[in-house]
Amino acid sequence: MSFELNVVDMYSDILNIYGDIGNLKCIKKRCEWRGIKFNQKSYSVNHDMDFDYDDIDLILIGGGSDRTQSIVSNDLLKQRQDLENYIENDGVILTICGSYQMFGNEYYDVNGDNISCLEIFDIKTTSQQDRLIGDILIENNLGLEPKEVVGFENHGGRTFHNYKSLGKVISGHGNNDEDNNEGMIYKNFIGTYLHGPFLPKNPHIADYLIFNAMENKYDVDSIEELNDEIELKAHEVMVNRLK
Ligand code: GLN
Repeated sequence: MSFELNVVDMYSDILNIYGDIGNLKCIKKRCEWRGIKFNQKSYSVNHDMDFDYDDIDLILIGGGSDRTQSIVSNDLLKQRQDLENYIENDGVILTICGSYQMFGNEYYDVNGDNISCLEIFDIKTTSQQDRLIGDILIENNLGLEPKEVVGFENHGGRTFHNYKSLGKVISGHGNNDEDNNEGMIYKNFIGTYLHGPFLPKNPHIADYLIFNAMENKYDVDSIEELNDEIELKAHEVMVNRLK
C-alpha cells in the first residue's frame, strides 16, 4: 500500500523566528524514512491559494515577532472560515507561539496595540515587556510516552484560555507563567509556545501529528514505527537537564 501526506506550511517565510521551519523538515524526513510520499504546499502573504483545504492532511504555522504577526494578520483573516472548518473537521494543525496566539480572540502587543486575530478560539493574550524566555519542560496531556516534552520559549505574550492544555509545566513559564499550563489542544489543533524547533526535539509528537493526519485516510497500523533511539537520547538529555 502506498501512502501520501499532503502538508501545507503557512507563512514560513515570515513566521519562522526560531527555526520553526524545522518542524516541516522533521515531518518530511519522518515520512521519507517510512516511504510515505510527502507532498508540500507553501502558502504566504501575496501568494495564490493553490490548494483545496479538503486535500490537506496537516498544516504547520510558526511563530514571529509582533511586527511579523501584524504583517501576517490581515492575510490570515482571509483564511478564517476555511481554517475554522478545517479544525472542526478534525484537520491536523500545529501552531507555534505567535500563530497559536492569533487563533484566539485578542492579542495586545507590548505597546498595547491590538493585532487582529482569527477569533476561532476563546483565547486572550497580552504581551508584556519582561519576556518569558528559556528552555521548557512539560508533561503532555496527549497520553503519549514519553510524557515529557521539551522546547525553548521566548514570548512576551501571556495567554489565558479554558481549553485543554498541551501540558503541565514542569520547568519554565508556559502560557502565562501563572496557571502552570502550556499550549492548548482542541480536536486535532495544537497550539504551543515551544520552539526548538519543537518536533525534532519531540519525535513522539511528530508521529502523533503524522498518524492523526494519516488515519483520516489510511489504516495507520500498517505504517512502520521508526527507531528513535538517538532522538530520544537527545530528548532525555534535555529532560534530565530541566527536571
Ligand atoms: N510576538 C509574540 C510574543 O512576543 C510571539 C513570539 C513568538 O512567536 N516567539 O509573545
